[in-house]
Amino acid sequence: MEYDIAVIGGGPAGITASIACSTDLDVVLLEKNPSLAKKLLLTGGGRCNITNNKPPKKLLSHYDSKNFLKTSFYTFTNDDLHSLFEFDFIEENNNRIFPESEKSVDVLKGLEKHLKDVDILLNYEVKEIKDNFIINNEIKADKIIMATGGVTYPQTGCDKSNYFLVKHPLTDIKYGLSPLITKEDLSSIAGITLHNVAVSYKKNKIDGDVLISHSGLTGPGIIDLSSIISKDLKYNILDGTENFSFKIAIDLTPDYSYEELKSKFSEDFQKKGTTLVKNYLKKFLAKGFIEYFLNKSSIDPNIQLNKINKKSRNRLIESLKRLTFEITAFNEKLAKVTVGGIDIKNVNPKTMESKIIPNLYFAGEILDLDGPTGGYNLKIAFSTGYLAGLSASNKIF
Ligand SMILES: Cc1cc2nc3c(=O)[nH]c(=O)nc-3n(C[C@H](O)[C@H](O)[C@H](O)COP(=O)(O)OP(=O)(O)OC[C@H]3O[C@@H](n4cnc5c(N)ncnc54)[C@H](O)[C@@H]3O)c2cc1C
Repeated sequence: MEYDIAVIGGGPAGITASIACSTDLDVVLLEKNPSLAKKLLLTGGGRCNITNNKPPKKLLSHYDSKNFLKTSFYTFTNDDLHSLFEFDFIEENNNRIFPESEKSVDVLKGLEKHLKDVDILLNYEVKEIKDNFIINNEIKADKIIMATGGVTYPQTGCDKSNYFLVKHPLTDIKYGLSPLITKEDLSSIAGITLHNVAVSYKKNKIDGDVLISHSGLTGPGIIDLSSIISKDLKYNILDGTENFSFKIAIDLTPDYSYEELKSKFSEDFQKKGTTLVKNYLKKFLAKGFIEYFLNKSSIDPNIQLNKINKKSRNRLIESLKRLTFEITAFNEKLAKVTVGGIDIKNVNPKTMESKIIPNLYFAGEILDLDGPTGGYNLKIAFSTGYLAGLSASNKIF
């Protein structure tokens, strides 16, 4: 079988690449699963946070690789993405965009409508690509677009071996947007949400809710911080150098400074001297969390405010402002994206073509590109996919 272009991987990046290049050319889309875009169906809890509606410049500022992404974002805008669908979208907080039906399957169906000119081979796993672009000894393509995704959620089709289908330099492969596993067993308080707190790692601080799970900490604040932490740590999933031990801190009262807490406590502890500390803290902390918090801070939950000495009061303030947790691992089963991938130094950002192997293109999560939660990662997949498809079919020149 001979094709002008073979697109490998039928996720959002591979699908948009196929859409962009299919008119007038023979294009094949190779997908190892029995259906397309298994991961897309899981996105946004099944609702698909398809993109983020911030204006392009502001949107780009949320990515470490903004310069690389610029051409693709301006070539395939959110308006271009919307125009692929016959239905409307809704916008939620922080400019997150969802299909109006709130069903990711509708996004997939909408995309599939544009694939009529594409030969789609399902249950087709690419295991070998020869230098002359012969795939699995049976398909010959003039050009190849690699869109095989990252390593997380392997049940959706991702696999480490994809990085080695072509010889191309890689950056370290790491977990991104991941819950964190704590050394301490938090199962007794699992299910509690700490609202409007700030989580920090070294000098990085993120505002957002934290959810306590059976294995540790999760929720928007933790998930976004995890990618920052991952980038700071030296390890690589591909060579098994995953040995973590680091600390994060939660500011449970970000609206108060240390000084403000100090003066508030000295005033309140006098005024409400006979109040038990566990009752007093109800205005600062989630109900089910107070007892745990006080035990962790070595303060008797049943002590009256006027019996708390200065040292304990300072310890209480320190715990409210910096409750620390030792982290032993990322939750590899629940990490949403891969940090790292094909080194973008060797990829032309204006075309997505390899600077090393002519006629080879990359799109989506296989590249060393990632963003925070909020539609930023699908945005990468759609825009780089579309640009790769356009350039592979010479439509942008
Ligand atoms: C649970 C979850 C929720 C998420 N929610 C959001 C969200 O709401 N918003 C957002 O922006 N991002 C979200 N993401 C991230 C987003 O889904 C990914 O960044 C995006 O799917 C990447 O697209 P991709 O096409 O590059 O890769 P993928 O979606 O991983 O697609 C790659 C495809 O290639 C196929 N493939 C792999 N190897 C081969 C091979 N050798 N031969 C043939 N086919 C192969 C795979 O089967 C797969 O279908 C979420 C991720 C997860 C896991």
